[in-house]
Amino acid sequence: MERLKQAIRERGNVLSSEVLKVDTFLNHQVDVELMGAVGEEFARLFKDDGVTKVLTIESSGIAPSFMAATNLNTPLIFARKKKSLTMNENVYVSQVYSFTKRETNDITVSKDFITAEDTVLIIDDFLANGQAALGLIDIVNQAGAKVAGLGIVIEKSFQDGRKRLEEEGYRIESLARIHELEAGRVTFIDELVTNNN
Ligand code: 5GP
Repeated sequence: MERLKQAIRERGNVLSSEVLKVDTFLNHQVDVELMGAVGEEFARLFKDDGVTKVLTIESSGIAPSFMAATNLNTPLIFARKKKSLTMNENVYVSQVYSFTKRETNDITVSKDFITAEDTVLIIDDFLANGQAALGLIDIVNQAGAKVAGLGIVIEKSFQDGRKRLEEEGYRIESLARIHELEAGRVTFIDELVTNNN
């Protein structure tokens, strides 16, 4: 998605060879127009897959998921990272190791909101090693529901999340795929030129 790649190039901040900061349009301040376009693209990609629920993880997954769910005409559910006091024991729980925070957290979703009849589209802001995605898949599996696929805003293709998920047979649609973060610069997979010289 060209518009997204342009935002990453112009408004992203390469913190290291592993971490990209996108606080300007996704992770803190939200560019609602861009996130609207991102959500529309996810909805277009999964429109024929019988999606009944969109599932993400708080908080940065919510913005890109919102317009996807709006366009697919489904509810949006976000997994909670901290158990709310108003949540009873009626929850699915999975453990997720956070790439950016370097800690393991339980994520929870109420059993009221995903059932065996559901086909679930999972959306997240980043795909790195696939831990968040695997935790969300685990929750869908606990519910006996079907995973339609994964919609990722920014995939860091040099980490092994995609490989892990593809090995398990899941469909992944990433709107921007990063080959490398190097010297403050982002290179996307589709910009690589084959040079045989
Ligand atoms: P994974 O679970 O695939 O290892 O990492 C994905 C999760 O970690 C995402 O939910 C995202 O919040 C966070 N994350 C991973 N890499 C980055 C990154 O380079 N920048 C930012 N802002 N978040 C990241």
